[in-house]
Amino acid sequence: MSAAAAAPPPARAGGPRTLVVKVGGSLVSDKRTDDHLDTAAIHAYAALVADLVRTFPGRTVFVAGGGALGHGAVRDLDAADGFAALDLTRATFAVKWAWTAAFREAGIRALPLQVAAMCTDQRSGAVADLTVVRRLLAEGVLPVLSGDCILTADGSLRIYGSDHVPGMLVDGSLGPVRIVTLTDVPGILTGTGPDGPVLPWVSPDDTASAHALVWETAPWDTSDAMRGKVDALAAHARRGAECVITRGDRASASLHHLLAPMDRWPADVPHTLISRTRPASLPHPRTAPPPSDPGITSARS
Ligand code: ATP
Repeated sequence: MSAAAAAPPPARAGGPRTLVVKVGGSLVSDKRTDDHLDTAAIHAYAALVADLVRTFPGRTVFVAGGGALGHGAVRDLDAADGFAALDLTRATFAVKWAWTAAFREAGIRALPLQVAAMCTDQRSGAVADLTVVRRLLAEGVLPVLSGDCILTADGSLRIYGSDHVPGMLVDGSLGPVRIVTLTDVPGILTGTGPDGPVLPWVSPDDTASAHALVWETAPWDTSDAMRGKVDALAAHARRGAECVITRGDRASASLHHLLAPMDRWPADVPHTLISRTRPASLPHPRTAPPPSDPGITSARS
């Protein structure tokens, strides 16, 4: 057993035990195409994640966004063919392999895992076997996951997108779990500009405020972009995860803050938190104004 297996570093108070970091396809590919993959961007992000894994071994699981290849594989599926989504396994394995090769070049051990072999739908919902993920973490190896198609209770395949995959890791044996989705926007923008303010917090039990801000989805997108992400992360947060949407920057100095308590994140990293725990720094929701004093009469009345 390795040193990482013998003594997994404990989570700092307020920080997660396990970090699931997803690098969105929008950061490493042009999703208007079916096959673009930016290997220079993948290498830059892989170096940042590798540094995180070296510094905090056994604490991180990686999820690769499908990007152009993933969306391209499921754009025109034959609804009459229950196995039509199969091509997603091939496409997302190519994406996982590009990441795994980059992690190897960055000097860490990483292993791509096929979600379809670890997770199926049962009558009670999707059920995952995390035995191999736990073993890899115990050995300090980075598990590399991606979206996939999974077997349903009726024997067909359904798409299990990369924003849904982190949910299979929300398990007592890995908790507390934080899920960070790095994408091409700094969070849920409250206006139309890419650098405008973002919603600081969304309650997973009331996503109406987030839904109201979501823009129309581009025609090439198959996962409903931000709306799909919010719904997937809210479901993970209702099961106990702390979920964050923030912008990826391949030129960042480090990603160490992703494992720090949220109140210690750098002030210049805007993000949207989706969690049942409301950040203490947020003002309390406005209470209804007190009824006007019936003894005071307006000059107009
Ligand atoms: P992938 O699903 O391929 O991994 P990703 O996770 O990087 O990609 P998307 O799922 O496309 O990214 O989600 C980010 C996109 O959501 C943004 O590029 C933007 O176009 C869209 N979006 C819609 N409404 C909003 C909003 N209010 N604030 C921010 N982004 C929004």
